[in-house]
Amino acid sequence: MTDSGQYEVSKTDDEWRAELSPEQYAVLRQAGTERAFTGAYTDTEDPGLYKCAACGNPLFRSETKYHSGSGWPSFYEPITPDAVIMRPDTSHFMVRTEVVCGRCGSHLGHVFDDGPQPTGQRFCMNSVSLDLDPDPAS
Ligand code: FE
Repeated sequence: MTDSGQYEVSKTDDEWRAELSPEQYAVLRQAGTERAFTGAYTDTEDPGLYKCAACGNPLFRSETKYHSGSGWPSFYEPITPDAVIMRPDTSHFMVRTEVVCGRCGSHLGHVFDDGPQPTGQRFCMNSVSLDLDPDPAS
């Protein structure tokens, strides 16, 4: 987010709808949640960089991904503190912390405090919100 409180990448709803698949649009732009254990990256262990599926912003490194058993890809730390933005979410009669992309504001998932060390945080992401950029084979 810029100093003026605007996202660096800002598009109209029509533009997002035209660019994203219906599944991506429902999660990224309407804060939907993919069904547990159905996402492409739930159990992925491939090395690489997970980027925002809407704008390409680098979000998580594969080294910080772990098996949470939740049914969604889980990470204990974003690649940089400002890669994501956290905000309170009281929808669905729950008090949770929503995680959105720091560059375009698209919905990624939620963060919980039952993660592993060193952070103790569990970034519970939707696979459809992510794009894994694999590391080149060495
Ligand atoms: Fe983004």
